[in-house]
Amino acid sequence: MRTTAALTFAHRLLARTLGPGRVAVDATAGNGNDALALAGLVAPDGMVHCFDIQAEALEKTRKRLEAAGLGHLVRYHAAGHEDLLSCLPPAHHGRVAALVFNLGFLPGGDDTVVTRPETTLAALDAATAVLAPDGSIAVVCYTGHPGGAAEAAAVAAWCANLPFEAWRAARYELVNKPGSPIIAFFVERRTEASKTAMRSSGIDVHSLLL
Ligand code: SAH
Repeated sequence: MRTTAALTFAHRLLARTLGPGRVAVDATAGNGNDALALAGLVAPDGMVHCFDIQAEALEKTRKRLEAAGLGHLVRYHAAGHEDLLSCLPPAHHGRVAALVFNLGFLPGGDDTVVTRPETTLAALDAATAVLAPDGSIAVVCYTGHPGGAAEAAAVAAWCANLPFEAWRAARYELVNKPGSPIIAFFVERRTEASKTAMRSSGIDVHSLLL
């Protein structure tokens, strides 16, 4: 899998809330790149739930994680990420520290099997329901394939509609990249600490990009 600047940036942001023993979700296992990074961050006793609708992707991910000695930390769900709520054990609802969506098609696989706005948005709604109070969501959108730009626009609109009182949503994009843009969105809950800081200073010091 290509490791793009957007993906590297996403891993760095998610690393702030991940740590030993925490629960993470790779909503689009693909070639296992994100699952590998997440598992490394929650080791030695956390858990990564991996979703993909293609058996090929889950198998590639499983091989990759086992080769890295992290396979025991991963649960594989041969299901769409829109089924997140029913696939995650109830004990993990409200406890997920990070979710990654790396949209589009499986690089090196069938490029007609792509993530789609309807299921992506349903999964993002579910993601907000399983997120821990200090958790964050990263969504990396690729605009170069058919439907990709529309999906990125749908994700942008979903982020923009999150109530500002309760959520912070930001976007990251290399604006001088040739070709089709890759856009990453980051979402986190606004914490009590940041609300207090805002009330006392009159300034919202809480920023996703700090
Ligand atoms: N475009 C990225 C990689 C995306 S991989 C890059 O170039 O690096 C996207 C993965 O999402 C694929 O493996 C695909 O099978 C999977 N996928 C598609 N629809 C899905 C869904 N509803 N739920 C979970 N995974 C899905």
